[in-house]
Amino acid sequence: MIKNNWNLEEIQDLYHKPLLELIYRAATLHREYQDTAEVQVCTLLSVKTGGCPEDCAYCPQAARYHTDINVQSLMKTDEVIEYARRAKEAGSTRFCMGAAWREVRDNKDFDRVVEFVQEVNKLGMEVCCTLGMLNEHQAKRLAEAGLYAYNHNLDTSSEYYGEIISTRTYDDRLKTLYNVRQAGISVCCGGIVGLGETHGDRIKMLHTLSTLPEHPESVPINALVRVKGTPLENNDKVDIWDMVRMIATARILMPRAMVRLSAGRAEMSISDQALCFMAGANSIFAGEKLLTTPNPSFDADNAMFQLLGLKPREAFKESVEV
Ligand code: SF4
Repeated sequence: MIKNNWNLEEIQDLYHKPLLELIYRAATLHREYQDTAEVQVCTLLSVKTGGCPEDCAYCPQAARYHTDINVQSLMKTDEVIEYARRAKEAGSTRFCMGAAWREVRDNKDFDRVVEFVQEVNKLGMEVCCTLGMLNEHQAKRLAEAGLYAYNHNLDTSSEYYGEIISTRTYDDRLKTLYNVRQAGISVCCGGIVGLGETHGDRIKMLHTLSTLPEHPESVPINALVRVKGTPLENNDKVDIWDMVRMIATARILMPRAMVRLSAGRAEMSISDQALCFMAGANSIFAGEKLLTTPNPSFDADNAMFQLLGLKPREAFKESVEV
């Protein structure tokens, strides 16, 4: 049963269950709502890198931190399409384009992103963007261009958000999610484990996600990638059991969602990732870079899929209610 009225106590109770019991429950629901042999394979390309005015404490693309990323202006359309074509050939069905912007502005760069969306759409891939805050009109324009999904993460609980980002508010995030939903675009929204948040913050973030009027179609669960030069570079490495607990709880709360094992896979073994799939993850980002941070290669993922008996999920299997 799909529920949008979870209360905090119910989620706390689930999240703190003995781990094997939690995995068992999540795996059972996973079987009920999803084809567990399938994993959605998405590719994420940074189409505009670095120089971002925001201060997200985990992000190497914030202009104010001294990291060694290469700042790059918006890519050309033919470069992006070539990248998408190669991602499709390698087995990806969803192509996500990320720009390090605070928000979308109505200018020539946005016109070019709209063109990216139209062109990638012609390849028969699910097109996704993550461009920062969007107003209603911009969301509509992207929808008309054929945008399938929009990523905009909540990152953590509303209470802890101010410790991680001071240049925008949690309500700004929720407003963009509302605009995306109103435009009939599929919502991709999740968070990051390892920011220094408590278990209570993780539970509250899951509560916000699972009590949205409609659950996000995709819920990325990221493990913090500790990048030198960012304020969080010395945080502890995320424990795999914390990832498994988050994924399993998300699977139980939002059984129809694609729960995506996102950033941090480069530091996980195949056994770690298998545990995450067992706990209900059914989506990954593929390709050697995840925006600017390392990620397993297509070949490594293909070998893992063969070993675990997994296959890539076809494009456009989920339907969006407009
Ligand atoms: S996470 Fe996005 S908004 Fe935040 S600093 Fe990085 S690129 Fe900018």
